[in-house]
Amino acid sequence: MPLSPKGFPVLLSFDIDAETMWTARDPKNADRPILMSQGAYGWKVGMPRILDLLARYGLRVTFFVPGLVMEQRPAMVEAILKAGHEIAHHGWTHRPPASLTRDEEEGELVRGNESIRKLTGRAARGYRSPAWDLSPHSIGLFLKHGFLYDSSLMGDDYTPYYARHGDIIELEKPAAFGKETTLVEMPIHWAADDAPHFEYVRTETTFRQGLMNANAVGENWIGDFLFMRDSVEWGVLTYTCHPYVIGRGARMMMLERVIRAAADNGAAFLTMEEAAQEFQGRK
Ligand SMILES: [Zn+2]
Repeated sequence: MPLSPKGFPVLLSFDIDAETMWTARDPKNADRPILMSQGAYGWKVGMPRILDLLARYGLRVTFFVPGLVMEQRPAMVEAILKAGHEIAHHGWTHRPPASLTRDEEEGELVRGNESIRKLTGRAARGYRSPAWDLSPHSIGLFLKHGFLYDSSLMGDDYTPYYARHGDIIELEKPAAFGKETTLVEMPIHWAADDAPHFEYVRTETTFRQGLMNANAVGENWIGDFLFMRDSVEWGVLTYTCHPYVIGRGARMMMLERVIRAAADNGAAFLTMEEAAQEFQGRK
């Protein structure tokens, strides 16, 4: 059932963290088989279900993939590209930029792009920060390396904007805000991200309750779309999912309900690159 190309852009985005969810974030625990198996579920079980769902509705979306995951799973990358989806940058090892030096952060950008270029034939147009945790250097580095857009900030909900660079923030002084750049920011939020709602995590360093009722979360996600339709002249809504989270039964059913409800109410499903270009064209 191909959906109308006209209407309010809805951007389904999937971050394929796989095992790097643990190797990058909790290296001390990364060799525990239970954690590795949670990551493996994403590429092994979640991804085929997601690709099947997208194919049934004729949707093209954006997958953010760490370079290491691309190199470990080239057949998965091939299936994504064959279906016409966009592959965008999600770091090399999946370490959050805020945890790195400027040189380390740039190294992640370069190596991630090498993997993307090797498998897709071109460098990434878009970037999303692992853990949504940019550093003060990030926007400048994205511009230096030719990115069109970033999708890691929360300064709006339905309206993309041009990211600012060069803020000077000191506790006891008024903030000196930097200049607007040409980098398109495609805003996101934790509320439209599957992981905080669903993923139960228990390690020595982390506890996340998750395990929310998928019907309730789906109702919120549909509500966010309907509010956009009724309150702005033009807007973009980004949903962020992770195959190791959304790939389970009731959550996949929820995602399909969200797709159908948005489609029935005027959504156009675009890749993030297409929506960023549409935003630029509106100025
Ligand atoms: Zn991630």
